[in-house]
Amino acid sequence: MKVGILGGGQLGRMLLQAAANYVVETFVLENDADCPAAHLCHHFVKGDIKDFDTVYQFGQGLDALTIEIEAVNVAALEKLEQEGVKIYPKPAAIKTIKNKIAQKEFYKSNALPTSDYVITENLSELQAQKHFLPAVHKIGEGGYDGKGVQLIKTEKEIEKGFNAPSVLEKMVTIKKEIALIVAMNNKGETAIYPPAEMVFDPLLNLLDYQVSPAKLPQQVLWKAEAIALKLVKAFGSAGLFAVEMFIDINDDVLVNETAPRVHNSGHHTIEANYSSQYDMLWRIMLNYPLGNTDPIMPSSIVNIIGSEGYSGVARYEGLDEVLKMDNSFVHLYGKVQTKPGRKMGHVTIMSDEYQELTYKANKIKHTLKVVSDNL
Ligand code: ADP
Repeated sequence: MKVGILGGGQLGRMLLQAAANYVVETFVLENDADCPAAHLCHHFVKGDIKDFDTVYQFGQGLDALTIEIEAVNVAALEKLEQEGVKIYPKPAAIKTIKNKIAQKEFYKSNALPTSDYVITENLSELQAQKHFLPAVHKIGEGGYDGKGVQLIKTEKEIEKGFNAPSVLEKMVTIKKEIALIVAMNNKGETAIYPPAEMVFDPLLNLLDYQVSPAKLPQQVLWKAEAIALKLVKAFGSAGLFAVEMFIDINDDVLVNETAPRVHNSGHHTIEANYSSQYDMLWRIMLNYPLGNTDPIMPSSIVNIIGSEGYSGVARYEGLDEVLKMDNSFVHLYGKVQTKPGRKMGHVTIMSDEYQELTYKANKIKHTLKVVSDNL
């Protein structure tokens, strides 16, 4: 079987690591011939995943295609789907998710709980929504890694909004942010992973570390699971979906957004769950039985991020010390160049003690630094 991946970042790389356990010929399409996934696939094709002809040609002759990023040419995938290539997830699901307006409308029309919102086409329409504040403005298309999101608490901050079609949604008083990964196979059978809980740095508003399974009251867990399953069934597509949700101060569960692919909130499943999210996606694409999502042990993840002030060839300070730590698993993504904020790797920590997960996550954060000698 021949399977292609659009995008060659770390998610593609980890997907390929899992592919090595199966009999499958792998293809990667990506613009950068030195990307993290380039050296782990059977066939690397250099090209633009946003370009119709490039994606269409790449997909011809493949049995199946998947994505590791949503910013792909959906029209080419639609044509390939019509011609019999299996796409995970279906192009229709990618199309809805790619646009935050379409995504919100999808939740609303499927009665999936999400924060109230209005659509604004431009800044002057945003100006007219003063009564709707405090709110969060999210650009419809083109935002990535927090760049298309602006918190607008007061009238004075309205100018920070986007002068482009966007969603203005009510600010939620968040108690917890969780992510739940759901897998659905071609028969419509589903498997669900225990939720991961994001712990944010209150100063930088950056993900500090993540713990899984999230500690939640049973009722809240059931609600979150029911919503995530309903959402994936509403998309009606085989594949892997990461559903990000807020739990508010009333313990209501609200959908924030969905990623129709393997997700950074599921890195820990490589070591900490019987079947990882990556293994699971191969099982789906190769038509094997779904895997076991149970945790082997609770875990936390720390991202290894390029330190402020360093750009150039990456060097890892404190790596030996972290590699000596028990039950800690280092993943470096093979990116040659570091720059401030760039995701260079992650470390998964496993322990039966939640306190130890937090303690070690903090220790690793302060021990391991990505620097560079050329400034
Ligand atoms: P991105 O796609 O860039 O990750 P998100 O929609 O996930 O953007 O928003 C980024 C962060 O902003 C969230 O993780 C959350 O902390 C905050 N946020 C987003 N929407 C809301 C909201 N409605 N209320 C409060 N905080 C929000």
